[in-house]
Amino acid sequence: MPISFYQARQQILDTVPTLAIETVPLLEATRRAIAEDVIADQPLPAFNNSAMDGYAVRVEDCVIGATLPVVGYLPAGETSTDSVKPGTVVKIMTGAPIPPGADAVIPFENCKAEQDQITIQQTVKKGDHIRWIGEDIRPGDRIIPAGTLLRPAEVSLLASFRQSSIPVHLRVRVAILATGDELQEIDEPHFSRGIVNSNSWALAAAVREIGATPLVLGIARDNLSSLHEKIKEGLQADVLMTSAGVSAGDRDLVRKVLEEFGTKEIFWKIKIKPGHPTAFGMHNNTPVFSLPGNPVSTLLTFEEFVRPALLKMMGHHTVLRTLHRATLSEPIKKKAGRLQILRVAIQINQEGKMMVRSAGDQNTGILRTLVDAQGIALLAAERDFFAAGEQIDIHLLGASTALGY
Ligand code: AMP
Ligand code: MG
Repeated sequence: MPISFYQARQQILDTVPTLAIETVPLLEATRRAIAEDVIADQPLPAFNNSAMDGYAVRVEDCVIGATLPVVGYLPAGETSTDSVKPGTVVKIMTGAPIPPGADAVIPFENCKAEQDQITIQQTVKKGDHIRWIGEDIRPGDRIIPAGTLLRPAEVSLLASFRQSSIPVHLRVRVAILATGDELQEIDEPHFSRGIVNSNSWALAAAVREIGATPLVLGIARDNLSSLHEKIKEGLQADVLMTSAGVSAGDRDLVRKVLEEFGTKEIFWKIKIKPGHPTAFGMHNNTPVFSLPGNPVSTLLTFEEFVRPALLKMMGHHTVLRTLHRATLSEPIKKKAGRLQILRVAIQINQEGKMMVRSAGDQNTGILRTLVDAQGIALLAAERDFFAAGEQIDIHLLGASTALGY
């Protein structure tokens, strides 16, 4: 019995294991998910310091028109134990510690400076242009939760806390196996009626985009011995992903060979279009995805089912892409019964509203439409018509939104 899109995805996410943890240098951890919470062991900033180049002052001295002598100079990186005495100021640079006695900083541009004195020209409040100890982060704060994708901002924070090596989950090694008698490799001499094995390239690119490692196994032919040999090799990886040979044709032997190896099939066939014959199983602890062969179906089933699974295996807490409400700019008809994975083109209209329409011919044979799409709409299985102006949920595609954000 075919299962629903959402059941299929849930069963996959409930089943796949999370990989072990390794520790890597900070920069190597970028674009990966941190495997453990990071708790602040000190305040940030670590001391009260100046937010501007200017003068450290005592607010009570800063009457408009007052003239105050500059009695010292504090560059960043230096500390003065001399306090700012009543009626005086100290020249201070951004990042330098606030000297004892001072309770505000006046930026250069807000006062008149001549020789060794300044004249107050505007009111000054306690704390002006001071960055207080711990105002950003207090000791004990959970600054980065386990499962967070490390972007440059998180790397900055980790570096501020002197975290030079980071625990992350291992990159998933994904074996990619193309199947089909008609296939030939990209650089083989062309034969008529041959079809280039583009799926292995597409899947390898998709695997890489999320920080997993593709292991490209080449092509298995549509016979038991060829499939046997290649699938055996593929089952050594953390995940095996095949394309084609999974429908009901007499050359569709992938499931049969997987079964011979003792793979436990969890489902075959999902109520979706495209991607209907997709199968998922486990061989011991190794997830096995059998994707359909049409290049569009292959990539869309990777996107909706395999990608979240791989992210979960690598410890990401966000494995699904964010859904956005968008307005259909034209009506869409579909058959009731299967959820449609619709390739959509997105435009922001003059009022700033996100408008979507079909990106083109939705036939599974049309790769152009996937190239032209910026997003995916998941059109409910039971519906057969969506009116222009209707709000639907979409998610974006592509590296700019890689990893769910
Ligand atoms: P199948 O599921 O084996 O019936 O394949 C469905 C369609 O996808 C056929 O037109 C195949 O030629 C095509 N196809 C299968 N595998 C690949 C591949 N690795 N690269 C490109 N097209 C493929
Ligand atoms: Mg085939």
